[in-house]
Amino acid sequence: MLNFGTAGIPINTKPRTTENAFYFLRDISLNAIELEFVRGVNIKEKKAEDLKVHANNIVISAHAPYYINLNAKEEEKIERSITHIINTGKIINVFNRYSDANKNIVFHPGYYLKMNKEQVYKTIASNIERIINYFKDNNINVMLRPETTGKISQFGNLDELLSLSEELGILPCVDFPHLYARSLGKINDYDSFYNLLEKIESVLGKKGIYDMHIHISGIEYGKGGEKNHLPLNESDFNYKSLLKALKDYGVRGTVICESPKLEYDALILKREYNQME
Ligand SMILES: [Zn+2]
Repeated sequence: MLNFGTAGIPINTKPRTTENAFYFLRDISLNAIELEFVRGVNIKEKKAEDLKVHANNIVISAHAPYYINLNAKEEEKIERSITHIINTGKIINVFNRYSDANKNIVFHPGYYLKMNKEQVYKTIASNIERIINYFKDNNINVMLRPETTGKISQFGNLDELLSLSEELGILPCVDFPHLYARSLGKINDYDSFYNLLEKIESVLGKKGIYDMHIHISGIEYGKGGEKNHLPLNESDFNYKSLLKALKDYGVRGTVICESPKLEYDALILKREYNQME
């Protein structure tokens, strides 16, 4: 079973508020949203308490702000990045306080900045550990999900995230189009997608398969990897084969559509998936 939803407020939500987004998603038979705190965490805890009443049955996760670099050279930037993730966690914890739903916080971990990759891994792992400890000390029960990234200069290929997840007891957000862009188009058929799922299971066990948080969109890439997201039907990304692999493998969790056509493409994904044998 997969939940399908949008990255942020659907295009046709009127007026464009988070509260209306919950109702609109339900009206069009989608049941998930990833709140996009792209430029900063723009919901306060009090507001989240109020909004929660309207969220019935919608699976809510959140994407931490974009300017995060847990491998920044300046200590100050690292502190700011950690604060962004912690603030995102506090909000998602309010939304899902009384539910069994996983409190997923998605974030892009950082950049290599041309440093030694093993060193970068260690720095990022120790900074994520600081965040995990903060949440533990404050009884905030959330799941950190570092995302597979699309640019070759960004930390976050699948191997890196699987070993981080194993080491720290967290789970990745698997953005398949990013892996396609990172591989310069090589990962784009049923067998490749299926192999990735096998790899995830081999490191994380069934938990890695039965509790997935997935991003799908169309995408354009150049020699550095990801350039920009595209509508599904304007990209060569083979989402149909991906959906088939997810279905055959018995993957469970949430699929968030990050294409510029948000709910239109989320519904294409959902219909395509449901039609498959
Ligand atoms: Zn993504």
